[in-house]
Amino acid sequence: MAKKYNICLDIGGTKVLGAVFNSKDKLVCKVKRRSTEQGNDTKNIEAVIIEVTRLLLKKANIKKSQINAISAGVPGIIDSDKGIVVFTPNLPWRNYDLRAAIEKEFHAKFYLGNDVNVGVLGEYKYGAGKGHKNIVGFFLGTGVGGGLILNGKLYEGNEFKAGELGHLCVVSEGGRECGCGNHGCLESYSSKKGMAKYILAEVEKGRESSMVASIDENGVFKSKALKAAVEAGDQVSIEAIEQACHYLGIATGSMINALSPDCVIYGGGVMEAMGDYFLERILPEVDKYAMPAIRPSVEVKKASLGDYSNIYGSLALIKMAEKKKRK
Ligand SMILES: [Zn+2]
Repeated sequence: MAKKYNICLDIGGTKVLGAVFNSKDKLVCKVKRRSTEQGNDTKNIEAVIIEVTRLLLKKANIKKSQINAISAGVPGIIDSDKGIVVFTPNLPWRNYDLRAAIEKEFHAKFYLGNDVNVGVLGEYKYGAGKGHKNIVGFFLGTGVGGGLILNGKLYEGNEFKAGELGHLCVVSEGGRECGCGNHGCLESYSSKKGMAKYILAEVEKGRESSMVASIDENGVFKSKALKAAVEAGDQVSIEAIEQACHYLGIATGSMINALSPDCVIYGGGVMEAMGDYFLERILPEVDKYAMPAIRPSVEVKKASLGDYSNIYGSLALIKMAEKKKRK
C-alpha cells in the first residue's frame, strides 16, 4: 500500500495537538492531549507524542506502514537540519535527538522546527500569508514569539536562533524585567504575562479590575476571560491592551523599516479570540512607527488558521523537505 498519510503535530508546554493529512493535503482527523499531566520529564513528553500519533492512526484507521512522514513544531531552539531539540524553555529537552526517538518508533521520516517559525510557515503556505514572499509574524500568547519568511523561505538565522521578536527592546530605560534577563522587551508588555502585569500593578495602586480573578499563579489568563472583561467595559484591561498594541506597533514599525516585508501577521490565542479588537489598536501605532515611504506596501493582518497554524506549518515542513530531496 502506498505511503500516503502525513502526521502533523503541535507540541506545546501544556498540550499536544495532532492531525492526519491525506495525499491531497486534506485534514482527515485530529486529536488533542494534555502533555503536562503525565509529568514533565523528557521520556514522558516523548511518550505523549507517540501516544497522540498512535491515536491518530487509530482514529484515521491507517497502519504505521502507511505513514509518509511525521512532523512537529516544538517550542525552543530547534536544529531543524539534524532534528535535535537544542534548548526549550518550558520542556525539559536539552540537545535531545527527538528525530531518532520518533523515527525508531514509527519507521517514518520525522521533521521538526521551532513552533512559532512553523506557525508562520503555516500561515505563509496555507493561511493569511498565502501569495506573499516576505512575512514578519508575531504570535501573542503566554510570551511573544516571532517568525520570518524572507524571499519565500523560512529564515532561521545562525544556529537556528532567528525570529526572537518578543525580545526586541521597546522601552530603552526603566523597562519592565523580561524572562530572558533583559529589560524592556516587547514580550514584557504585549504577551499575556505582560498584560497581566499591567493589570495587577494597577490593582495594587487601588484600582479595580474583574480580570484579577482570571489571572493564575503563573501570571497567565485565558484569552476568552480578557475578551469578556473588555466586553464588560473593564477599564484596566482595556488599558493593558492599549499598551500591548502600542508596543507591538513600535516593534512592527521597526521590523517593517528593517526588512520592508510585504506582509505582517499577528497570530496566537489572544489574536484568535479578539484579533479585530487588537488590530484596530495596532494599526494606528504601526502607521506612526513605520517609515511613510515603506508602510503603504505592507499588508498588516491577523492570522487565519487559528489553533492550526502550527499543524499546517508542520505539513509545509514535510513538503519543503521532500522538495529539497528531489532537487
Ligand atoms: Zn526578553
